[in-house]
Amino acid sequence: MSEHSSDATVAGGATYLMWRAALGEPMPEHLISLHRITDHDEVRDGSVGALATLRRVERGPMLGAQRALTMAASVTAGPSVRSLATVGGNLASGFPQADLVPALLALDATVHFSDGRTLPIGQVVESGFKTEDLIARVTHDLPSGQGWTGATLKLSRRGMDFSIATVSTVLRLEKGEIQEARVAVGSLFERPTRLPAIESALLGADPSEETIREVLEYVKITGKSFLEDDEATASYRQLIAPVAVRRTLLAAARLGPDGVPRPGEARM
Ligand SMILES: Cc1cc2nc3c(=O)[nH]c(=O)nc-3n(C[C@H](O)[C@H](O)[C@H](O)COP(=O)(O)OP(=O)(O)OC[C@H]3O[C@@H](n4cnc5c(N)ncnc54)[C@H](O)[C@@H]3O)c2cc1C
Repeated sequence: MSEHSSDATVAGGATYLMWRAALGEPMPEHLISLHRITDHDEVRDGSVGALATLRRVERGPMLGAQRALTMAASVTAGPSVRSLATVGGNLASGFPQADLVPALLALDATVHFSDGRTLPIGQVVESGFKTEDLIARVTHDLPSGQGWTGATLKLSRRGMDFSIATVSTVLRLEKGEIQEARVAVGSLFERPTRLPAIESALLGADPSEETIREVLEYVKITGKSFLEDDEATASYRQLIAPVAVRRTLLAAARLGPDGVPRPGEARM
């Protein structure tokens, strides 16, 4: 990288890079593959290496909060892309439909760079990704067994299409109430983002369909322009946003800390 500086970029699985190239985007002179680095590909409860393929992530922890990331990986692209695509590449691509980013936001993940620096995921998403930063891993401090549950649901036209809405949530349930709530959405706006007004309104609520429906009628998902792209109009996204959030919250509540999602449960 230092030899070729601005004319070089790293490639994880190169699936995003090749897709952009196929659309006519100019490629750098040098692609530096991270593929043969044998470290940084772990998938553990609380730590996922940047070089872990999405196929590995989807076979990772199914319980607790990290289930949000596992479910997100399972609905990203198709199996052949997932066997090459990496976590680092999904995060660094910086496009609004990147399916892992809402789960990382809901987990309040920390991004670790190869030079030892760390940054909260929210800051990385908000400030945009800098090409000179090399991601080593993402971590979170919500290991399973502490009452946390997580889920991700994706709405797309067909199985392998980019998302119209991806919602990830991480909840702590105790005595039939939501004690802590994190809700993040992707594909709805220019950037994946948390929904703090909804998170606050959920505190103390029982996670029933009726209550969650009421909360989402009361707290609207507004404040930013909805995304318009080849997959859906902005007005359609605005219409389905509360439905997508409600279904994801109910999925997380239904699964609880120990439930294992059924095949296909991550699709709306
Ligand atoms: C047919 C097809 C369907 C797809 N569908 C989806 C989908 O449904 N949802 C979705 O989210 N994505 C989708 N993608 C996009 C892509 O596959 C994923 O985002 C994937 O996770 C990118 O990972 P990668 O390792 O292949 O990234 P790469 O293409 O290798 O890299 C992407 C960017 O990240 C940078 N980068 C890679 N690794 C690192 C690192 N460790 N540190 C810093 N920068 C890094 C690269 O320099 C590059 O700028 C699809 C792609 C294709 C081809």
